[in-house]
Amino acid sequence: MIPFLDLKNINAQYRDQLIEACTRVIDSGWYITGNELSSFEQNFAAYCGTKHAIGVANGLEALILTLRAWKELGKLKAGDEIIVPANTYIASILAISANDLTPILVEPDLITYNLSPKNTQAAITDKTRAILPVHLYGQLADMLTLMKIAKEHDLLVLEDSAQAHGASIDGKKAGNWGNASAFSFYPGKNLGALGDAGAVTTNDDELAKTLRALRNYGSHEKYKNLFQGVNSRLDEIQAAVLNVKLPYLDKEIAHRRQVAQTYLEGIDSPYITLPNQAGEAHVWHVFVVRCEQRDALQEHLAEQGVQTLIHYPVPPHKQQAYQEWNNLSYPVSEQIHSQVLSLPIGPILAMQDVDKIISAVNKFKP
Ligand SMILES: *Cc1c(COP(=O)(O)O)cnc(C)c1O
Repeated sequence: MIPFLDLKNINAQYRDQLIEACTRVIDSGWYITGNELSSFEQNFAAYCGTKHAIGVANGLEALILTLRAWKELGKLKAGDEIIVPANTYIASILAISANDLTPILVEPDLITYNLSPKNTQAAITDKTRAILPVHLYGQLADMLTLMKIAKEHDLLVLEDSAQAHGASIDGKKAGNWGNASAFSFYPGKNLGALGDAGAVTTNDDELAKTLRALRNYGSHEKYKNLFQGVNSRLDEIQAAVLNVKLPYLDKEIAHRRQVAQTYLEGIDSPYITLPNQAGEAHVWHVFVVRCEQRDALQEHLAEQGVQTLIHYPVPPHKQQAYQEWNNLSYPVSEQIHSQVLSLPIGPILAMQDVDKIISAVNKFKP
């Protein structure tokens, strides 16, 4: 079976360096908010081209705490409307509701699967205060247009960059477009820790300072609490792991791009809709095709020895967690959720396996 993502062997490439880094942390006697975290924060900010990176416990908390910080700073208040793509991973929406803000689901663009600027424009009301574009599947949203809309309407922009570390448009990376950006370093993400981890990037000094307090009980200084904060810190051992892996990220993205290009050139089937060519704007966290007979395609590929996944099978508005939306209709999102299938892609997927997958896909007859 060709696995969807061979996480074990991806990390095995760096085994010696990872062991050395973890040993350094063990022997240091310092396990939380120390040198490993501050050096990772500097390295990751430099990678994204931002002034600050603030490590937090995971990607969901990076989203939640940024919105929370804007509330503490008086930029958002309960009930404000936040525009978010209807087909996103549910974390983006959970972060909005967790802050008593109102998620406004907007239909995505069917070519890029990202937030549609036209539909965003149409969803703006006098209660809209922010846009939360998600760089889904690893492709930057149309940030040039979305930032223009945000500026015209004086809206905050929080990027969800959990799938798009390193994607860029005109040399400007994911994480450096909005007022702030949330990243996840969940093990399966393009930059993955050996456990949970996340970060916020921003060029805003005041926001960075507030986030550093919020993640640490609301405290800048031991035993002085400015906010009713939380404990959401990025552990030294995970920061050390990320410091080992960050220098290899661009090389890993280059391999993902080679795999994607080979799929785009090799897959030739009347039943398959391929993703768009997106150049530097795409880091191919997942390679998503669409097929009307998606379940049959997945079964066919499994029989041919190819493991695939669905990102995602159920749209957020059909989840039990959001019962109040269950009767709403978002036809574009629903079409996406019923047709998408993710083929194997990753930094060490062998090109012979890519060729096997292509011929298995091309053999599919519904
Ligand atoms: C993974 C992911 C998150 C959440 O990150 P965690 O680290 O798992 O909390 C948020 N948004 C998107 C789009 C993601 O893919």
